[in-house]
Amino acid sequence: EQTYQIEGWGDPYFSINRAGHITVSPQGDRGTSLDLYELVEALRKRNIGLPVLIRFPEILADRIERLYACFDRAISRYNYPGTYRGVFPIKCNQHRHLVEALVKHGKPHQLGLEVGSKPELMIALASLNPIQISKQEEEESLLICNGYKDREYIETALLSRRLGYQTILVVEQLEELQIIQEISSELGIKPVIGVRAKLSTKGTGRWGTSTGDRAKFGLTIWQILQAVETLKSYHQLDSLQLLHFHIGSQVSSISVIKEAIREAAQIYVELTAIGSNLNYLDVGGGLAVDYDGSKTNKNNASKNYNMQNYANDIVAEIKEACDQAEINVPTIVSESGRAIASHQGVLIFDVLGSNEPPLTPPPVIEAEEHLIIRNLWETYALINENNYQEPYHDAIQFKQEAISLFNFSYLSLQERARAEQLYWACCAKLFEIIKHQENINDELKEIANILTSIYYINLSVFQSAPDHWAIEQLFPIMPIHRLNEQPSKRGILADLTCDSDGKISQFINPKGQQPKDFLELHPLEKKQPYYLGMFLVGAYQEIMGNLHNLFGDTNVVHIQTHPKGYQIEQFVRGDTITEVLAQTQYSAEELLENLRRHTEQALERKLISLPESRRLLQNYERSLSNYTYLNQEP
Ligand code: PLP
Repeated sequence: EQTYQIEGWGDPYFSINRAGHITVSPQGDRGTSLDLYELVEALRKRNIGLPVLIRFPEILADRIERLYACFDRAISRYNYPGTYRGVFPIKCNQHRHLVEALVKHGKPHQLGLEVGSKPELMIALASLNPIQISKQEEEESLLICNGYKDREYIETALLSRRLGYQTILVVEQLEELQIIQEISSELGIKPVIGVRAKLSTKGTGRWGTSTGDRAKFGLTIWQILQAVETLKSYHQLDSLQLLHFHIGSQVSSISVIKEAIREAAQIYVELTAIGSNLNYLDVGGGLAVDYDGSKTNKNNASKNYNMQNYANDIVAEIKEACDQAEINVPTIVSESGRAIASHQGVLIFDVLGSNEPPLTPPPVIEAEEHLIIRNLWETYALINENNYQEPYHDAIQFKQEAISLFNFSYLSLQERARAEQLYWACCAKLFEIIKHQENINDELKEIANILTSIYYINLSVFQSAPDHWAIEQLFPIMPIHRLNEQPSKRGILADLTCDSDGKISQFINPKGQQPKDFLELHPLEKKQPYYLGMFLVGAYQEIMGNLHNLFGDTNVVHIQTHPKGYQIEQFVRGDTITEVLAQTQYSAEELLENLRRHTEQALERKLISLPESRRLLQNYERSLSNYTYLNQEP
């Protein structure tokens, strides 16, 4: 468990059972637990191939429950005389079955949606119930409209208010105000308007530039005051009801969140003082996920606070600012995406094979060997616990010299092979000495890298973990079985694409330090599958994945537990080759017809036999309806 830090990032959903398999408890500490390895085997027996993305909607439900419970506790702790309303930013994962599950599980809490574009607005309008009933109370569903807007977007959003939605148009650019004014007076629908503030509080980490003067979105304080004046001139200042900010995703430090809330609360207070009718304060997203389980803010893979600290700080800061100014507190809105959607998605993929470093025992050396080989042998013999740095440098130098000698034909191919074998033997001996040492220098770390195995995985990093490729985001990755066995290998993962960026060579470090450049893995066993899981991938990855090398969407299943086990609630088959080809404007039928013509020509020229041409066409036709990933027979 220590090796992969599962209790840090996995609690309460993922743990290891006695069989050495990962267990999933979709309802957290309650409910049925599933053996993930057995689940994957069962999926494969149903012809659901790997890679497969497994969604656990109950985890989604549990995340929503937890978020609301944290705000409920904070509200009663600080005697906050207002309420909390969550909205899910649909950009995080727009897939239909996920949104349906979210709407279903969000209903008891009247969870709303945040959209950032016209297509997202269209999903929201047709998926969310305009009026939600909870605890006998009817409430208009909150629909926050962010992003750049054209007339059609604004008109649709305004008309949606007639369905019962509490639709709020958050102004990103001052020009939007005039369009809102024109369309709302034409339709006779009073708008509810929000402004997104560019806070001066700097976010941290990869999304830290989401705020500040150079941020892409939002209005500066001066522009917000202009918006107030414009709305006054339309006699519509009472429409301005929401103040929004978003300082970036995955904010790893609670002090940054606190500072941002303090600044936003002060803006809220001041805008109220000049006559606006604000009653919502929308704190955006940013609630981070603990990907490495370290609970630190040392890198972007974790955070130094929990959900309760987050809710407490938001509620307390807003209350304090409003109390001091003696104004009514706002309804608090938050737009957490990552913190709600990440845990429910687990990606399972298999290892196709491995490439081991060429470690053979050192060759036997004859007395009349070439000097350079004898030097390497002596270096090898010299390495011991007290003396390894210098021999390492010698080994590198002798190896380089051996290659130069070979290039000038002073060394035969066999001699060069022996020299290289000796060099590898030096590295292996050194590695045994340094492998448990904490503080080794970068040069010696290089040895560990040299001796790392490459595990080939049935996956496209570009399709399934685009954030790892694009911004080096870390996700916890580990085998889902054989966890009673000590993993004796160190490996990196190379994906199916013909792109040297298509690899995973940075892994979470249990101590929250810099990422590790290897993953502890087991030696592969003949004809036995080796399954790896990539966890916490439910946010952003699916929609941002791309078709590099034409590896398409993976298979997706939704697993719902019941007291006696589970059922596969949904199965969304991954892209077939025909489907990915269609996305690049190829018609499968035309391709097949072209190939048929080529085979006819080849037959005429007697380049191919009839059985061969039939086999080629059959293969081609079968492949068209197959999965884009490799098919490993169960
Ligand atoms: N709200 C807005 C405006 C965003 O741009 C984002 C994403 O960056 C979010 C909410 C969701 O943020 P997170 O996933 O960190 O909760």
